[in-house]
Amino acid sequence: MVNILAFIPGHKFPDVSITGPICPLGCKYCKGYYLRSMEPTLTPKKLYDTAKFLAKRGAKGLLISGGFNLDGRLPIEPFLTVIKDIKREFNLVISVHSGLVDKNLAVRMKEAGVDIVDYELIMDDYVIKEIMNLKSKRSHDFVKSLEILEKYGPPYIAPHIPIGLNYGKIAKEYEAVDVISQFKPYVLIFLVFIPTKGTDMENVKPPPITDIVNVIRYGGLKYGIKVIEACCSIPRELFEVFFE
Ligand code: SF4
Repeated sequence: MVNILAFIPGHKFPDVSITGPICPLGCKYCKGYYLRSMEPTLTPKKLYDTAKFLAKRGAKGLLISGGFNLDGRLPIEPFLTVIKDIKREFNLVISVHSGLVDKNLAVRMKEAGVDIVDYELIMDDYVIKEIMNLKSKRSHDFVKSLEILEKYGPPYIAPHIPIGLNYGKIAKEYEAVDVISQFKPYVLIFLVFIPTKGTDMENVKPPPITDIVNVIRYGGLKYGIKVIEACCSIPRELFEVFFE
């Protein structure tokens, strides 16, 4: 029996945007591009109706995302009552891409039955101010939100570390790994910058693959993952050879 897990959201875990294709923040690497492929659910009623439709069609979970406001937050508060109804009536696994949070929002997401928060930790103040356009925020605000989520938020906090947002340079990604390792999360997700057409960074080169691997390797060391310096076709029985 081959034990392989491939994660492909598909129709069982669709995504919706509560702001449609609109994102007031307009980060230089995205400009809301990735919201365009999500189902728009601009009102709580539309979110409820969409969840009902998707659940009938076989969805088991729902990723609730959207554009962020100028404080780096997803404007999800008006949707929380309906999210509670969706959990109760359709029993979907609910994941929210929240952005920054305060204690009140973390508690309310938990009370609404949100299962997972996908949270991007950015430690690079230049990226925060100049690339994400969050003029009044700094890395400590991102750390604070992570702390709040861990303490008061939904049961599963899934930290994401974007790699290469500083014009393809690796700058503070290692620091982000260090910060996250203090929380002992159940998962650590790396996102690699890719230039997106129509954005300010469409011509920026992504980081070199060796730099990306080094960050992931560092994460692996911090989390006790065995990094095997060999081709991925190596059978498990032969792993030991490469640990010597
Ligand atoms: S906050 Fe930034 S990354 Fe998220 S949708 Fe808006 S522009 Fe894209």
